Amino acid sequence: MSNTEEYVASVLKTIKRRDPNQSEFHQAVEEVFESVVPVLEENPTYEEHAILERISEPERIIQFRVPWYDDAGKLHVQRGWRVQFNSAIGPYKGGLRFHRTVTESIIKFLGFEQVFKNSLTGLPMGGGKGGSDFDPKGKSNADVMRFCQAFMSELGRHIGQFTDVPAGDIGVGGREIGFMVGQYRRMTNFHGTGVLTGKGIGFGGSLVRPEATGYGTVYFMQAVLKAKGERFKNKTVAISGSGNVAQFAVQKLNQLRAKVVTLSDSSGYIYDSEGIDNEKLDFVFHLKNNRRGRIKEYADKYGVEYHASSRPWEKKVDVALPCATQNELNGSEAQMLVDNGVIAVGEGANMPSTPDAIDIFLKAGVGFGPAKAVNAGGVATSGLEMSQNSLRYSWSFAETDQRLKDIMSNVFSAVADAAKKYGKEGNYVVGANIAGFIKVADAMIAQGQYA
Ligand code: NDP
Repeated sequence: MSNTEEYVASVLKTIKRRDPNQSEFHQAVEEVFESVVPVLEENPTYEEHAILERISEPERIIQFRVPWYDDAGKLHVQRGWRVQFNSAIGPYKGGLRFHRTVTESIIKFLGFEQVFKNSLTGLPMGGGKGGSDFDPKGKSNADVMRFCQAFMSELGRHIGQFTDVPAGDIGVGGREIGFMVGQYRRMTNFHGTGVLTGKGIGFGGSLVRPEATGYGTVYFMQAVLKAKGERFKNKTVAISGSGNVAQFAVQKLNQLRAKVVTLSDSSGYIYDSEGIDNEKLDFVFHLKNNRRGRIKEYADKYGVEYHASSRPWEKKVDVALPCATQNELNGSEAQMLVDNGVIAVGEGANMPSTPDAIDIFLKAGVGFGPAKAVNAGGVATSGLEMSQNSLRYSWSFAETDQRLKDIMSNVFSAVADAAKKYGKEGNYVVGANIAGFIKVADAMIAQGQYA
């Protein structure tokens, strides 16, 4: 082990000792730390300034009680968090997740990843993340509204357009953001235009924000395919999830004449060998965003395969885009995809591939796009929403989409160049971690020991 590797190992050991039960957070930190070893070796300043110790410790974690009444008048108590991870390059920025699986470890891993992702976008945004173990599934609209109001009653005092600007994530879409904007306004008598992103178009939202993560995922993967001399046209694609990211990835892929054959939710996946065309996609939009039903209904309606309690990675496809949740693609599933001839895998979700799955893809020469880079289009367009709010102005769909395309193209170049510079050409995992890290680390050093 080199001296630098020993330093990295000792910082990791401390992190694990301090929070032994935060396995998701350890997984995210370990990947970044491994990637930046050559950067630390080249530049001892980072170790002298204890950058790894500082960058892996959130500036602030706020945990709070969220009591709310359901329709039947029963009082529930949920737990809420906001992890304000790093503000060296801009106000904290990152989504809110409402899901029964949310823990402090999940919010910390997401906040940590967000720091580097936001740095990659080239926009002045720090990293944060928040959420609650509230489960919106099966809840009435009024239940969700009362919960969002209760959540914002506490969160509201910690955020602001120059402090911390939350957005959506799993379980938090346009409906929930609307309820939270309303509550923020009621609490502060301040039109919180710049305080949350993902708002409705009529009250400060940006065109393309709903589409941005799914579209951006496809734009990034177009660049990955191009580097291999390939393109999406006529390619077969497996997608997991059926929420915001998955839906708009399908829409963009249909425009590019690829054939998407799978979608899933936490109950199982559908396989449609004919492809999910725009008409069927409209059914999915309505099913998931209005009726809030299960993906199995797609199989019932169109008479296609449904696999309960399984994931779509067993199918033969050219490209796989995991767009549901963390650790949803493991080593044996990665091997199945490789054996079936997959040429590219892009992480629309955050940390969907386990570390052994990533190793398998990289060793097999699969074009692998890591989440930090691939799904950065969502937060980038949130950054564009903030810009428009500051300007008191809004851009057209075409103009905003062009900005998103330019940002994703710049992210790809930054990632590919960093990988090449450090002798790992084509390894976009290392490239994304290094490119994201350097800007934040340099800003922290420039701002002194407390920054
Ligand atoms: P949605 O809530 O809109 O959809 C999430 C989808 O993933 C649903 O189909 C859901 O199924 C499924 N899912 C969630 N948790 C699990 C689980 N534990 N096991 C299996 N399936 C699960 O969320 P988004 O589409 O917004 O987010 C998807 C991913 O993309 C997340 O990792 C998120 O962090 C990431 N992301 C999202 C961005 C955005 O702009 N929305 C930006 C960047 C990243 P079910 O309904 O059954 O739970």
